[in-house]
Amino acid sequence: MDQIKIGRFIAARRKEVGLTQLELAEKLNISDRAISKWETGKSLPDASIMIELCEILGIGINELFYGEMINMNENDKKYDEIILAMKKEQEETAKRMLALEYVIGFGASITFLVLVFIASFIEMVDWLRVLLILIGFVQFAIAIPFAIRIEQTAGYYECNNCHHKYVPTFSSVLWSMHFGRTRYMKCPECGKKSWQRKVISKE
Ligand SMILES: [Zn+2]
Repeated sequence: MDQIKIGRFIAARRKEVGLTQLELAEKLNISDRAISKWETGKSLPDASIMIELCEILGIGINELFYGEMINMNENDKKYDEIILAMKKEQEETAKRMLALEYVIGFGASITFLVLVFIASFIEMVDWLRVLLILIGFVQFAIAIPFAIRIEQTAGYYECNNCHHKYVPTFSSVLWSMHFGRTRYMKCPECGKKSWQRKVISKE
């Protein structure tokens, strides 16, 4: 894909339908900086707004990718839309899974802390204290691998060095240093270790 060509095409179509960058941005609910980045070829629109963008510009998805108007039959257009809808659906699923991961992770951590707190400070027989701490530990030990599994499989990690996007192995996610969802891992493509960002879309 030729990003510069696509950017010029977006700019030309935007002018043809009589919109400023700001007006287009408002229609799509994004910043006008993003529009400017597309039009200068620095980035491509996210899959999640491509359909809407194409509708506004009066072009097909194919045309957006080619960066020019092309003669397409209706079947091609439908096929395009199906592919894109599937991609969008995949991305939505990844987002939902990542939200679920937080719920599982925080839920299990808080449950653990609350049970330990109760066992430590509330009057009860000793075996009950042990049981509460044990339950807290077991539910935590079950929940965390689930959360890491989601972290591993939902979306992609992007190499800071070569920008390759990939799904890492479970153990590399488990053992890597991380701040939130940014992890220090080895890229399978270029082999360099760097801080890698979680991204939802592969493009
Ligand atoms: Zn790399």
